[in-house]
Amino acid sequence: MLLKKQFHFHSAHYLPSYKGKCEKLHGHTYRLEVTVEGDPDEEGMIIDFGDLKRIVNEEVISKLDHALINDIIKVPSAEYIGVWIFGKIFSRLQREFPHIKLVSVEVWETDTSSVVVFYEDFERYSERI
Ligand SMILES: [Zn+2]
Repeated sequence: MLLKKQFHFHSAHYLPSYKGKCEKLHGHTYRLEVTVEGDPDEEGMIIDFGDLKRIVNEEVISKLDHALINDIIKVPSAEYIGVWIFGKIFSRLQREFPHIKLVSVEVWETDTSSVVVFYEDFERYSERI
């Protein structure tokens, strides 16, 4: 069974090697959707929504919200922001809830534009960030 939770964060970024509007410093209200997979426990829950919220807040939102993402991620495209977020949540879940699988992380830069990152993408691209 899949469980999803959404978050928002407000951040600034610029894309250093991009020619166009996103080359200059600007901000987005990013939307993040975290999807995990697991079996409901004896309380009927895959993971408590509150636990997932705490983990994502501590690992991701507290670092990216009202930050200049370029200080954290070299090339802060939605793609690489997603890869970075995947890594943070993946390691934390492994430590705290090893029976829960992180399926994907989706990052919306606007209401209509998003990127979905799976484990394979994290493995392939994490050294670029
Ligand atoms: Zn942008």
